[in-house]
Amino acid sequence: MNELLKKTAAEQSKALKNKEISAVELTQAAFERIDELDEKLGTFNSLTKETALDTAKKVDEKIAKGEELPLLAGIPLALKDNMNLIGSKTTASSKILENFVSPFNATITQKLLDNLVPIVGKANLDEFAMGSSNENSAFRNVKNPWNLNKVPGGSSGGSAASVAACEATLALGSDTGGSIRLPASFCGIVGMKPTYGRVSRYGLIAFASSLDQIGPFARSVEDAANLLEVISGHDPKDSTSLNLPVEHYASSLNNDIKGKKVGVIKELMSEGLTEDVSKALQNAIETYKNLGCEIVEISLPRLKYSIGIYYILATAECSSNLARFDGVRYGYRTPDAKNLMELYTRTRAEGFGPEVKRRIMLGTYALSSGYYDAYYKKAQQMRALVTEDFKKAFEQVDILISPTCPNTAFDLGSKASDPLAMYLTDIATISANLAGIPGISVPAGFDKDGMPIGLQILAPQLQESRLFNMAHRFEQAHEYYKQLAKI
Ligand code: GLN
Repeated sequence: MNELLKKTAAEQSKALKNKEISAVELTQAAFERIDELDEKLGTFNSLTKETALDTAKKVDEKIAKGEELPLLAGIPLALKDNMNLIGSKTTASSKILENFVSPFNATITQKLLDNLVPIVGKANLDEFAMGSSNENSAFRNVKNPWNLNKVPGGSSGGSAASVAACEATLALGSDTGGSIRLPASFCGIVGMKPTYGRVSRYGLIAFASSLDQIGPFARSVEDAANLLEVISGHDPKDSTSLNLPVEHYASSLNNDIKGKKVGVIKELMSEGLTEDVSKALQNAIETYKNLGCEIVEISLPRLKYSIGIYYILATAECSSNLARFDGVRYGYRTPDAKNLMELYTRTRAEGFGPEVKRRIMLGTYALSSGYYDAYYKKAQQMRALVTEDFKKAFEQVDILISPTCPNTAFDLGSKASDPLAMYLTDIATISANLAGIPGISVPAGFDKDGMPIGLQILAPQLQESRLFNMAHRFEQAHEYYKQLAKI
């Protein structure tokens, strides 16, 4: 592997500017790395070589002319395969969209292209982003680069694994209940979910629209901050996107954090944590103390309901969002239906995988007349209470911390037939989506088998700069983020 692939985006940008390597060479090096690992890791559904090399060429032309480069120009990036890029297949890792070719760009994709970021390929995921292990992909499993018998986490498993294995330097994922933070923690990298509305969802295949948010993966907090800056901003095409100026997040990374109040979420401190994860959390608390922060124990009394709330709201929304896949408008169509009803039902029965069907059925049930008040309405009311818990907490502290997951990456197959065990993997991440607040997972150590552990940091809505600052200071106090998977 070209050694430069192991560097952060910030370091690669310098190398490009100093002409140590050209953008085309760097992109080609990423493709060589992908070729080398593809069979082992299963990271990508498809590669977008032409787009990537075209973009890289433009970067080299700018460098040759001595022109200023946009942020992250020339840095190889993997796009989760539920985001549209013109001319590429956008499958959401589902049979129903196996041959769907994007006729348009997602807003985030357009922003990446405008910034001359070479998009190397479409990263594998759990079908329609439903899952926590990437085992729900209709195509193949993604393996964890730290141990090929383990899952990379989901649903953005391909995005996370590609960055951890240096196939790409950056990636984008989508996070509805933890799908960026969880795989980041399992793969030993940084993954960040922005405030709801900070990043446009236009061109992202919708799962649960009131929870979905696109965010960055990187091998350092600084790179993640820069990537968020590139993709953020108001978009008239997404009515939920916030009309607020985009900040230069990287400028506050090194701010002094002395005197800041760090809340440790009581409910996520003990229950179900493995010994190693618990130790890593204690270690994180010590780090913040050493950086001059005050540690406060914070209770979020309604947090324990968040998985239940999520699995009613997310499934209700997905049952509606996925109604459009009916064999008429997009993708797969059953070959010989006898009438319209059969066309719908057989297309969906043949096109969707088992987890997607389970969610559609759950959601349809929760929304059906007679059950709506008991399930959907109650869940909405409870969502407001969870949000209130966070509001109260942030009156007392600047940030909240917890492990990103109570355990490290588990063995492939070990939870695949137990949906409830799988759903519980997201106990620490889901509530941030319910409350719409930003969250990040940063490398925080390793378990006794050498698997990475992630620290989750949460901040109030739109306090991304604070979040990155607190995460960066933690990261720089350790060497964890510098360790790469040996693959
Ligand atoms: N694991 C959760 C689920 O299966 C979250 C997925 C996500 O954030 N997209 O729904």
